Amino acid sequence: MYRTLSGKEPAEAILLKVKRRAGEIDWTPTLAIVLVGADKASQIYVESKIKKAAGCGIKAILHKLPETVSESEILALVDRLNEDGGVDGFIVQSPLPKHIDEMKIVKGINPAKDVDGWTPVSMGNMFVGTDSFLPATPAGVMRLLEYYNVPIEGRHAVVVGRSNVVGKPLAILLLRKNATVTICHSKTKNLAEYTKSADILIAAVGMPGLIKADMVKKGAVVIDVGITRIGEIIKGDVEFDEVLKKADCTPVPGGVGLMTVAMLLENVVLAAERKAKK
Ligand code: NAP
Repeated sequence: MYRTLSGKEPAEAILLKVKRRAGEIDWTPTLAIVLVGADKASQIYVESKIKKAAGCGIKAILHKLPETVSESEILALVDRLNEDGGVDGFIVQSPLPKHIDEMKIVKGINPAKDVDGWTPVSMGNMFVGTDSFLPATPAGVMRLLEYYNVPIEGRHAVVVGRSNVVGKPLAILLLRKNATVTICHSKTKNLAEYTKSADILIAAVGMPGLIKADMVKKGAVVIDVGITRIGEIIKGDVEFDEVLKKADCTPVPGGVGLMTVAMLLENVVLAAERKAKK
């Protein structure tokens, strides 16, 4: 009775358009990816980004740096990529090793090439509504809601998680669509009180099983952003099977993750289009 909100179809629809737009640019749109260290999950994400990029006519160049790399070495690479006319956009794959100040690296990225939408300039533009590049995961969630015709205006959206790259920007994008937004986090008392009143519930925490069926309102729409790897198994934050008996829900894997990659590649093609207009 309730819908599994797969990311497959909406992501494929986005990638198809990205491929068409990439083909209309005079050069091959190019994404550079900086990958630091040997984190298994990051390697898998990066491989998936490279494969999907190739599928829609975007060239991806991987820059691998060792775990021991210094902050200044990463910043030097960021500067080179900022200046490189052959690179339309680039990302620094998160997480970075603990000795690196991630925000310092992100701040070094030229906003015109910030296809992850993570620089303070991109975030500020999103905040005031003059978009540069929207952060891929929050933008992907919004596109998924749009694809499944989920009404947003006037509805109560509860976002669990307040990170700079997922929870906070998602709350702003929902607000821009006239939702009434509540943000919950690790210090929120009685989380279920809030989640139960959500018409749209978004879990972006990284804690499998956090959102149980009795925390969800019947007929709600539940978006599971969480990804936790337990060996070879990937788990979201939501108890999917139980929640699906009373609400529409995205699966993990096969939900928001697919949208994130599609939105990243849409940003790459947008960066190339903007460059072509200059
Ligand atoms: P993060 O930076 O670790 O943030 C997690 C957030 O969850 C924090 O705001 C934290 O609150 C909150 N939190 C922790 N425990 C909680 C609890 N018991 N109740 C309520 N809130 C709690 O993580 P992130 O980068 O936002 O990512 C969140 C999840 O999404 C992770 O599983 C990540 O792997 C996944 N992710 C998926 C995609 C995708 O494409 N599907 C993309 C990015 C991230 P405090 O702020 O108070 O610490």
